[in-house]
Amino acid sequence: RSKSKGKDTFSFFSKDLQHAMHHRVEMEIKLRHAIENNSLAIYLQPKYDFENNEVAGAESLVRMVDESGKVFGPDEFIPLAEETGLIHQLGKQVLQKSCEFIARCNEKGQHLKVAVNVAAKQLANPGFADEVAEIIRSAGIEASSIELEVTESALMHDFEQTRDILNALTSLGVTIALDDFGTGYSSLSYLRQFPLNVLKIDRSFVIDMDEEQQAHDIVTAIVHLALSLELTIVAEGIETQSHFNGLKALGCHLGQGYFMCRPVAMEDFFNQFISNEEV
Ligand code: C2E
Ligand code: CA
Ligand code: CA
Ligand code: CA
Repeated sequence: RSKSKGKDTFSFFSKDLQHAMHHRVEMEIKLRHAIENNSLAIYLQPKYDFENNEVAGAESLVRMVDESGKVFGPDEFIPLAEETGLIHQLGKQVLQKSCEFIARCNEKGQHLKVAVNVAAKQLANPGFADEVAEIIRSAGIEASSIELEVTESALMHDFEQTRDILNALTSLGVTIALDDFGTGYSSLSYLRQFPLNVLKIDRSFVIDMDEEQQAHDIVTAIVHLALSLELTIVAEGIETQSHFNGLKALGCHLGQGYFMCRPVAMEDFFNQFISNEEV
């Protein structure tokens, strides 16, 4: 390869590549900064009980706010956090903030249950269960107030170690939800080999439920499977009255989605659902 060709190739790529690299570096700086300052924001989305339409809990969803006040969604920095290993600290802070929020709700006499997302890398850390135990203990809350949402790919890591960690968490009293069910490499035997309490039907099936018979059939099958395994079923991504009615009719226990409520900043959640004693 001649020198000049190499140079041309470089200048051909350089704009996009430089832009992408610049963006990545900027995001990493912002993320490190947010973690150092413990300034990640938690948004909470209520989960509703289909039987009585009451708020049965909430999912914790992280956001990053930079110095100019711009809010970034997790899809913009969670993959970066996973690549750089920052996910361990990020996950720890999200759990800490969620536990502290539960403690604050408890002071108001409200026993809120909060589900926290756990990345595959966190679950692969042998010290993870001890870390969770310590965070729950120092917040002074019941372990049963916390649910951890894990994905199928997180379960794929190391069968024995993952099972040991999930068993240790279950012994603490934490409940475990399998998130995004049906989108990963589901081996159905996993549903029995890991101590799971909750199955979350992925949004992608719910979205197509009304238009596509196939999506509707998949949701029906998932609900029947979960019911027979005595798992609690949470449907996510409910955007319409028709989604809501359909999932309720199928026998899902809990639902979350824009139709009922978007994720809201922690303080707003507190004002809307906790301090007015309406939960
Ligand atoms: P997820 O765990 O599947 O979370 C549900 C996502 O769906 C959230 O997006 C939520 O805002 C969105 N959503 C809720 N209801 C609806 C709806 O009716 N329609 C639509 N179109 N979307 C809805 P968000 O907050 O952008 O989070 C995206 C993903 O980022 C999450 O997907 C989760 O995988 C990850 N994530 C969020 N917070 C954390 C965290 O603290 N730690 C880790 N490891 N991952 C997180
Ligand atoms: Ca989730
Ligand atoms: Ca999900
Ligand atoms: Ca998802």
